Amino acid sequence: MPEPMQNGAFPAPSHDHDRCVRQAVAHAEQVCADRDLRLTPIRRRVLELIWTNHQPSKAYDLLEAIRGEPFSTAPPTVYRALDFLLDAGLIHRIESLNAYVGCDARHVAGSPMFLICRGCDRVAELPGTGVGKAIGRAAKRAGFAVDQETVEISGLCGGCADDA
Ligand SMILES: [Zn+2]
Ligand SMILES: [Zn+2]
Ligand SMILES: [Zn+2]
Repeated sequence: MPEPMQNGAFPAPSHDHDRCVRQAVAHAEQVCADRDLRLTPIRRRVLELIWTNHQPSKAYDLLEAIRGEPFSTAPPTVYRALDFLLDAGLIHRIESLNAYVGCDARHVAGSPMFLICRGCDRVAELPGTGVGKAIGRAAKRAGFAVDQETVEISGLCGGCADDA
């Protein structure tokens, strides 16, 4: 029996991660083509670096990684590439970690919610539709206008829970 590729929302440790990267880049090309956006070499490279694994990347680590590459470029260019990828919905910012993860495109609309494993530092994304509605209702009752809702949940993924 081959090992399953997924362990709940998290990919199994032995999954084919090259496939994740290929899918993420193909998805980015599609999104950019559909919306007439340009996936420039630096934007693509930053996206690939964020997809190095399923752990969030800090801007600092991305700058360090790019420093040694032919693409080497000034920090503002990297920050602009991050802004572009965020605006295009291709990556997400994990506020509690001040770091970025690739969007695995499982959320359809609205804000996703994030599961953050404290065992392996990986982040998985779930549709946050029901949660967003509940937050909206609670905020309305409280007479509060929501700008942004960020749902980040820490815990253990299936693999780490098994090991614990
Ligand atoms: Zn993967
Ligand atoms: Zn997403
Ligand atoms: Zn884990």
